[in-house]
Amino acid sequence: MSTLLFRNGRVIDPVQHLDTVTDLLVRDGEVVGIGSFATADRVLDCTGKIICPGLIDMHVHLREPGREEDETIETGATAAIAGGVTTVACMPNTEPALDTRDAAEFVILQAKRAEQCFVLPIGAVTKGRAGKELAEIGKLVDGGAVAFTDDGAPVASAEIMRRALEYTKMFKRKEKFARPVDEFEDRFGKAVLVHAEIMELTEGGVMNEGAVSVRLGVRGMPGVAEDIMIYRDIVLAELTGGKVHILHVSTAGGVDLIRQGRKRAEQLVKEGKPSFWISGEACPHHFILTDETLTTFDSNYKMAPPLRTQADVDAIIAGLKDGTLSVLATDHAPHAAEKKAREFDLCPNGIVGVEVFLPLSVTYLVEPGHLTWNQMIEKMTINPAKVLGIDRGTLVPGAVADVTVIDPDVRWKIDVNQFKSKSRNCPYHNWPVRSKAVATVVGGQVRMSEIG
Ligand SMILES: [Zn+2]
Repeated sequence: MSTLLFRNGRVIDPVQHLDTVTDLLVRDGEVVGIGSFATADRVLDCTGKIICPGLIDMHVHLREPGREEDETIETGATAAIAGGVTTVACMPNTEPALDTRDAAEFVILQAKRAEQCFVLPIGAVTKGRAGKELAEIGKLVDGGAVAFTDDGAPVASAEIMRRALEYTKMFKRKEKFARPVDEFEDRFGKAVLVHAEIMELTEGGVMNEGAVSVRLGVRGMPGVAEDIMIYRDIVLAELTGGKVHILHVSTAGGVDLIRQGRKRAEQLVKEGKPSFWISGEACPHHFILTDETLTTFDSNYKMAPPLRTQADVDAIIAGLKDGTLSVLATDHAPHAAEKKAREFDLCPNGIVGVEVFLPLSVTYLVEPGHLTWNQMIEKMTINPAKVLGIDRGTLVPGAVADVTVIDPDVRWKIDVNQFKSKSRNCPYHNWPVRSKAVATVVGGQVRMSEIG
């Protein structure tokens, strides 16, 4: 038996409506509970700190297999631990794509070897992410895939998306969870995660289509390219009774569609009719940065979906506040320096983020008063756990002891040279931020600690 004691911290666990200064005891990798405990095999002094369920980042690109020069499962998982993240879900746009049982098992095996955070594979919706025929979804589930997406690209065919939802819907939870599960979250099978982009509308585009792209004389990607597909997939979710989660929402229109979709789903439940799942996620760059940053032609501001306008940023923050966007995630997208250094129109999309996920969210959501600590933690723990249908995201007794300890008030400057990630494509170098993960515990194992 081994015990680990988190002493005298502010324990926040949204599932238990818990926000109180106390101790938290862990034994043999499981949460025992809160209270006052004399001692343990190892004690972490959490005075002045926040103790919360281990953070989950459900949108991470680990690049292995195929692009190990950008990131590996080990370096990405190590970066996650440094950022206070105990679970990541990794996207299937590797080479080859994660579209077979073997590929999913490979990810899990590599993550176990790395002994860092918990890594969940997300399977491809279509074979080779080519959009032509469904991947072996049942076998991917057997191999450990928790959700499905062709992220990096959309599922362009509405017919294939419909069949994907009809199929993923059949995979209901089999195992018993330590955490409470509401019937609603359990009803729709595995989630399909949507990269919403109508490619015909974005072809050749390098940034948001708007006043700035006109001024710069470059081809833009209109917001409606995202909105149209969000709408398509909400109505397909209703048609099939499936589970749809919209990745990296970047438009005011998209937030509004998800808000209406969630109302519709709730209304159907109230009426006792078959319903569906619709949720949405926001990434830090979409609630912090606008397309004005592109005037520098710095490739660290190039992403898909692109940075948009201040009105879109405001709408995303409003969506986070009212619960329309229930999940925070990073879209951690490492690229080796030489790739991001290519000409602006040729360089790849995306930035790294898992190591600065927490401080950016605190600095730009909690500090200005948009979200409480409780609300932010909910969107980084139990809410993504519900989308993925995993038994994580809470500190209820009996839960897997994934715990993050946060120094809430420390102020520091982001230094990309300190990143554990293999890549440095990040626009926040030297940015002042508030708060930091000071201990990361996965399954009762202390993977990182600055507090004893
Ligand atoms: Zn994407």
